[in-house]
Amino acid sequence: MRIGVLALQGAFAEHMSAIERIGAEAPPVRLPDQLDSLDGLVIPGGESTSILTLMKSFGLVQALRERAQAGLPVMGTCAGMICLASEVSGSDMATLALMDITVDRNSFGRQIDSFQTAVSVPALGQEPFPAVFIRAPSISRVGEGVGVMATLPDGVVVGCRQANLIALAFHPEITDDLRLHRYFLSLAMG
Ligand code: GLN
Repeated sequence: MRIGVLALQGAFAEHMSAIERIGAEAPPVRLPDQLDSLDGLVIPGGESTSILTLMKSFGLVQALRERAQAGLPVMGTCAGMICLASEVSGSDMATLALMDITVDRNSFGRQIDSFQTAVSVPALGQEPFPAVFIRAPSISRVGEGVGVMATLPDGVVVGCRQANLIALAFHPEITDDLRLHRYFLSLAMG
């Protein structure tokens, strides 16, 4: 299996290592034709405005939208989730607009740069996921056809799935818990 990782900016190396640890290939993706041979794609965390600007200059926006709409599994984490969202609260930021969700950037305040907490992810079973949040967004609206995947103890939505697309507000690639990468790999295996 080949799970590409968008390698323009941000935490792509950590995702590549996580994917390799679960036994799949993880080629870096920077150009549209590199999307052709993939079974799935990860859009990493980083800075969403930079990632989107770079995607435009590399001609990736339309190509990626077409592949995702044709069924290519895509998992966006943190800034990657913002790229997938159809709407960013209080902003007219041009995203890929592939998932019917509204996200709030820097949702946990600027003072709290990062924190780790147990998140409930029923699709993975009873054991909570140790989620690391770094200047993280949250999901404030989930459209029809979008399922909630992960929530904080107070009910705030921090992960969801819409068919072949997964959006996570946190960074699953920087913990040793690879269950979410395995979940995505099994989605890509169909
Ligand atoms: N705050 C960043 C953004 O808005 C996301 C942070 C991250 O990906 N860790 O793009």
